[in-house]
Amino acid sequence: MPIDPICKKTVDETTPFKSIYKNKEYYFCSEECKKKFDELDKSVIRVRRSLKDKERISFGKLKREIIEPGICTLCGACVASCEALAVVNGKPTLKGPCTACGVCYNQCPRTITTESSLIGSVRDVFTAKTLLPEVKGQDGGVVTSMLLYALEEGLMDSAVVTVKSDEEPWKPVPIVAQTREDILRSAGSIYVHSLTMESLMSAIKRGSRSIGFVGPSCNIDAVYKMQTSPYGLLHMFMRANILKLGLFCMDTFHYDGLKSFLESKNIPLSAVTEMKIRKGKLVVKTDSEHIFPLSDIDAIRSGSCTVCTDLTAEKSDISFGGVGSNEGYTTVLARTGLGLELFKDAADRGYIKIEPLERNGLERVLRQAKAKKVQMYMIKKRIETGKGI
Ligand SMILES: Cc1cc2nc3c(=O)[nH]c(=O)nc-3n(C[C@H](O)[C@H](O)[C@H](O)COP(=O)(O)OP(=O)(O)OC[C@H]3O[C@@H](n4cnc5c(N)ncnc54)[C@H](O)[C@@H]3O)c2cc1C
Ligand code: SF4
Ligand code: SF4
Ligand code: SF4
Repeated sequence: MPIDPICKKTVDETTPFKSIYKNKEYYFCSEECKKKFDELDKSVIRVRRSLKDKERISFGKLKREIIEPGICTLCGACVASCEALAVVNGKPTLKGPCTACGVCYNQCPRTITTESSLIGSVRDVFTAKTLLPEVKGQDGGVVTSMLLYALEEGLMDSAVVTVKSDEEPWKPVPIVAQTREDILRSAGSIYVHSLTMESLMSAIKRGSRSIGFVGPSCNIDAVYKMQTSPYGLLHMFMRANILKLGLFCMDTFHYDGLKSFLESKNIPLSAVTEMKIRKGKLVVKTDSEHIFPLSDIDAIRSGSCTVCTDLTAEKSDISFGGVGSNEGYTTVLARTGLGLELFKDAADRGYIKIEPLERNGLERVLRQAKAKKVQMYMIKKRIETGKGI
């Protein structure tokens, strides 16, 4: 005897309440159940209509991103939303023409389809640069300039930043900066993990109560955890106002590995004046420029970075990165009211120049954020090892 797909009751085939979907007849116990089932079909049509003028997404994208890498859960949401799809040999498969309406992609629990699930909650987005000639930043020098503003306006009594070691070139050393000089020398990015939390604890122990803290998402997460976990140190005993300045981050490397790799290319770290990661390449400047694909240094990438999914430091008050902006500018995502207010005030007081980030800049951030989010599925590894197919 057939089962009513809505209320799961057994029904007689002679019931007057029937519907046909995907060439199959369905039987219902009542007009109400039949109506619910038919409404579902209408919703698919409505969603299809509202997606019509958006980006065209075909089943091929779902196949490439989810089914082929082997991360499909076989929940059936895609198949249930399109007559052209069926499960064949344990996989959602196209059996008819695909109109690239995007409905299946938007139902799948494994795809990422909203901006906030890629970069967290954001109040406003900007591109900005320093107006202080003495600031030599990694991108627009905005992080350093904001710290200088907060220190000089008396809004912050110290900042936890990272500088390069004097003894071992390009080794990161976290410090508690309380002077203009210390903040200025922290400008620039070092692609190695920095033990910033030790310095944060030491700043609080020394009596700082308004602290600017700079770090990539894993560092910001540590502060957040200590502030919000029931037994977190910052929640229980060490009360301090911490402004979290997050850095976008795709990778860091083991210090010794980076040193050996560059030495094998006849580049001593002591000769390096600048390092940047741009468009999947490590750019190292000495008296000339050396460019290496990141795939060459995969082996020295920190293990934690291969499973990290947060590009933009989603739990910070304000985040900063290079992607999305022109050379010499920093992309800024203002997240909290405090982050936004301080950023705008730093501009009003002449520390930085700010402009809205254009849509194509934000799209670049979203693309990089997506590449990082899907790391959790280990798609690259699955395809390489053939495990997903
Ligand atoms: C490891 C790492 C990876 C990054 N990867 C990306 C990326 O993939 N895409 C992207 O768009 N942007 C990335 N960034 C961010 C980018 O390099 C800049 O830091 C950001 O755009 C701000 O530039 P700025 O000129 O305004 O900062 P600056 O004014 O130069 O200030 C830089 C700040 O970074 C801090 N810092 C430097 N190294 C570290 C470290 N290892 N740990 C903690 N804090 C540090 C310094 O203390 C300083 O306060 C990365 C940064 C780091 C540190
Ligand atoms: S027509 Fe079907 S298979 Fe093609 S994108 Fe739309 S829902 Fe997916
Ligand atoms: S909706 Fe996604 S997870 Fe569910 S069956 Fe389809 S591809 Fe697999
Ligand atoms: S990739 Fe993630 S884990 Fe690695 S340094 Fe960056 S934020 Fe931390």
